[in-house]
Amino acid sequence: MNLFSVTSHRGCCGGCSFCSIAPHQGRKIVSRSRKSILHEVVQLTRHSLWRGYISDIGGASAEMYGVTCQRHSCKKPSCLYPVSCKFFSPAKSYIELLRTCRRVDGVKKIFLGSGLRHDVLVRHPEVLEEIMLHHAGKSLRIAPEHTEDAVLQLMRKPPFTILEEFVNLFRSINKRLKRRIELASYIVVGHPGETIRDVLEMKKKLRALGLRHTDVQIFTPSPGTLSTAMYYTDLDVSMRPIQTEKKIKELCHRKDMMNKI
Ligand code: SF4
Ligand code: SF4
Repeated sequence: MNLFSVTSHRGCCGGCSFCSIAPHQGRKIVSRSRKSILHEVVQLTRHSLWRGYISDIGGASAEMYGVTCQRHSCKKPSCLYPVSCKFFSPAKSYIELLRTCRRVDGVKKIFLGSGLRHDVLVRHPEVLEEIMLHHAGKSLRIAPEHTEDAVLQLMRKPPFTILEEFVNLFRSINKRLKRRIELASYIVVGHPGETIRDVLEMKKKLRALGLRHTDVQIFTPSPGTLSTAMYYTDLDVSMRPIQTEKKIKELCHRKDMMNKI
């Protein structure tokens, strides 16, 4: 973690199948108070290496800062999948936190290094605009992870249409900014259930969307996740057989294909 980076909360209620954040930080969001974060920011401005820039204020998914839910008996694995729960109310506390920290004497700019959920921002365009205006560097990073709905379902990620909607919203805001921002995306290849045809389709779709700045990772089975169970059993959550590519040469080929969009 960067010296001038601030952790505002822990945990994530996104419930993505491949992610190990919830198994080790929890599904419930635990947020620091605004006062405590503000105190840390003020302390940073007194550091001998301080130059006015904070590289990040956030957590696993930044806009989840301050999210609470009183339904303690809820056992749903995700507050966002397959659709956003009506009790899930993100983004407001986070944007208020950023506004407060921006006002601290000596703070020139706060960048965002933490992940952001594009399916949440698409429902809060005013938050996206404020982030693009005040907190983006040369690019804004999102993590759609894939474009094919069959794979996205296995990942417990929003469908491709949400990514299209987000890109349109991003572009319409970008046109109004003095300094244009690039949109960059994280993609995973080799998730259980993905076929080579899915990779070819993903390449076409990202190219059509103009998302050329893409970081590609090969799926890694990590302990405690649903995707890891799929990887070792070749079954989905309904116990239906799925194909899983495990040969490293083939997985590297998929990654190379996506690196050349
Ligand atoms: S939103 Fe991000 S941090 Fe949260 S479960 Fe999904 S991948 Fe993990
Ligand atoms: S009731 Fe909704 S917001 Fe609350 S924990 Fe369950 S899914 Fe999440």
